[in-house]
Amino acid sequence: MAITIEQQVQLSTHTTMGVSATAQYVARIDSVEALAEALAWAKKNKVSVLVLGGGSNVLLPSHYKGLVLLIELKKKGVILENEHSVELQIGAGENWHELVEWTVEKGWLGLENLALIPGSVGAAPIQNIGAYGVEVEEYITKVQYLHTQTMNLCWIEREECDFGYRNSIFKNELKAKAIITEVQFKLPKKAQLRTEYESLRSFLRQQGIHEPSQQQVFKAVIQVRQSRLPDTQKLGSCGSFFKNPVLPSEQVDRLKTHFPDVKTYPMPDGYIKVAAGWLIDKAVGKGFRKGQVGTYDQQALVIVHHGGANGDQVREFASFIQGEVLNMFGISLEAEVHIISANSDDA
Ligand SMILES: Cc1cc2nc3c(=O)[nH]c(=O)nc-3n(C[C@H](O)[C@H](O)[C@H](O)COP(=O)(O)OP(=O)(O)OC[C@H]3O[C@@H](n4cnc5c(N)ncnc54)[C@H](O)[C@@H]3O)c2cc1C
Repeated sequence: MAITIEQQVQLSTHTTMGVSATAQYVARIDSVEALAEALAWAKKNKVSVLVLGGGSNVLLPSHYKGLVLLIELKKKGVILENEHSVELQIGAGENWHELVEWTVEKGWLGLENLALIPGSVGAAPIQNIGAYGVEVEEYITKVQYLHTQTMNLCWIEREECDFGYRNSIFKNELKAKAIITEVQFKLPKKAQLRTEYESLRSFLRQQGIHEPSQQQVFKAVIQVRQSRLPDTQKLGSCGSFFKNPVLPSEQVDRLKTHFPDVKTYPMPDGYIKVAAGWLIDKAVGKGFRKGQVGTYDQQALVIVHHGGANGDQVREFASFIQGEVLNMFGISLEAEVHIISANSDDA
């Protein structure tokens, strides 16, 4: 057997939330062959499988009873380049921010607004990562995955991925059936930079930058993020813990009669996105804390782990927040973070 299966492995350093968590078995996956072998091993030994990239969007249980696959599939190549655009093939185990940095160095446009999002390239399509007015779906052309039931290596085109706000086919029809191995992107060489997002635009204006270069947008995104989000090396978090609820306009109109200053964003389909951070801020506040878990003091949508807690304690805190928001506004918040149970099959 080419893969090594380790036993009783501590995973706290493999996640940005940093809760104490062990796994019964762990395998490092650096090739598609290793992935197929690990899945065959799990099947033979009748154990569940959990896939882990950068661990920045998962909440682990104290002990995971099953096999955790640490995705380390590396590849960074140009498939096609001409004067208009470049097409890239990137391994699922590459670091997302390092990819963005590379494209900015090369002057290939599009990903600069997605700088500093933690995690791996392979996880990016799963929730269609987005920030500062850009979603990754705009630049993905296709995704390669290993189908865990048929064991076929498949390609899925962007149009079939059903991308939506923090959503894709990988969270629905292909949930627990697809392990992403590679993502392909097409980036333009000439395009309008995207600086319309309010906090980015006002930051650039404050800096006296009116016609920013790609480098300046990239740096501005990093600075804005650093001022608003916790440094996960110092404070555990998964970024936004909940999705912003997307509601029918009539419901938002009713909400506004009681809470006229509620922060909302119209969506192209007529629905309205309500800022979950605003709702949580009103319900419990920023910097609110119960034991070792709390809301971040700069942004209530971010749940932070001050150290020493386990996944159950974070989950209880998240449920408490959901209850408070439901009581106050009648709105159910849905977790953006993947909450893993002790022996759930996530692959
Ligand atoms: C401080 C902070 C800020 C953040 N800001 C943003 C933001 O601005 N925008 C945004 O969209 N997200 C943001 N996030 C969330 C997170 O960075 C993204 O969701 C990221 O894509 C997760 O990548 P990961 O490799 O860490 O995934 P993991 O946390 O390892 O996994 C997430 C889920 O994907 C599955 N998975 C991982 N890799 C694969 C694979 N190769 N194949 C199949 N399934 C897989 C896992 O099983 C799990 O269910 C932030 C997180 C943090 C901590």
